[in-house]
Amino acid sequence: MSKKHYIIPIFIPHIGCPFDCVFCNQRKITGFDLEPNADFIDKQISRHYETIPDPLTKNIEIAFYGGSFTGIKIEKQMELLSVANSWKINGLINEIRISTRPDYIDNSTLELLKNFGVSIIELGVQSMDDQVLEKSERGHTAMDVIRAVKIIKNHSIKLGLQMMLGLPGATYEKDVCTSELLISLNPDFVRIYPTLVIKNTSLEKQFIEGKYKPLTLYETIAIAKVVLIRFQQNNIPVIRIGIQPTEELLAQGDVIAGPFHPSIRQLVESAATKDFLTAIFSQLEIKEVDHIVLQTNNSFLSLIVGQKKNNIDYLKKKFMIRNIKIITNNVLSDKEIIISYNAKQELFSYNQFINNIV
Ligand code: SF4
Repeated sequence: MSKKHYIIPIFIPHIGCPFDCVFCNQRKITGFDLEPNADFIDKQISRHYETIPDPLTKNIEIAFYGGSFTGIKIEKQMELLSVANSWKINGLINEIRISTRPDYIDNSTLELLKNFGVSIIELGVQSMDDQVLEKSERGHTAMDVIRAVKIIKNHSIKLGLQMMLGLPGATYEKDVCTSELLISLNPDFVRIYPTLVIKNTSLEKQFIEGKYKPLTLYETIAIAKVVLIRFQQNNIPVIRIGIQPTEELLAQGDVIAGPFHPSIRQLVESAATKDFLTAIFSQLEIKEVDHIVLQTNNSFLSLIVGQKKNNIDYLKKKFMIRNIKIITNNVLSDKEIIISYNAKQELFSYNQFINNIV
């Protein structure tokens, strides 16, 4: 069995970044705007570490989030990383992760990161469409992403890529195309962030002036579902869908507009599961059936049912089924179901289903 994974998050504010991407108010997102120092970081790590049960038996990662880590002054990078690396050298943690911009990656930067124990780099790609990048005032191009990925892979460092949905100038096709280009770069994992309009950003101004229209929640789920399935088909883990809301962000009402939902990942996965069930029911030519029983592993149950029983109600209506009963059967693997109807019984797997979608 693999070791349980723990992340010790360290939020680095705007210090590494002279840019002002239209959607970003980094100080708001990270929750503070003071420049951290070694002592502060060490105390933060200790505080988190103490909360981890049996830490030496766990896979623990120190993750520097926010800002653009490799844009920080070299001395500051070394100061912060040397603290994290001392925890790693002493065998107390396993990995060190940083996040940065594609145009802030070069060979000498990578040498430094490697020397200080960094083993994972997340790149904020956001889009692989140059027009979208320009409208979002990212200050880099898709070619910068390709170049950065090559350098990171040459240094054998794990690679995470972040993409956003619904940026200015983006369309359904452009977002799906970005996911396909990210797949071609073969990252170790990805994150998907629907664009939100956050207070005190240039996107807020554009929104108020009617120049930017955020995606609706419905549109976001439709795009995120396709993108998620694409990554799943290629065995690329999607480690997050949606922004990590700090309490401050929510308490102050900083999300002005956009598809914010605390369970957006659940909604997206549930929509993909609805497609899976619909495909099975169509394939089995189920129509006007009185009673159907679905057996599923407990871990798949809530995705099958959907929010407010949405998936079950949809299937009942679409296929004219009077009753669908769901039974937990933990002998089944994750994302497998057995369907029983009209004295027949068949086993299906979500993973097989997604591989059959063109
Ligand atoms: S590069 Fe990152 S930190 Fe800098 S403004 Fe853009 S999103 Fe914010």
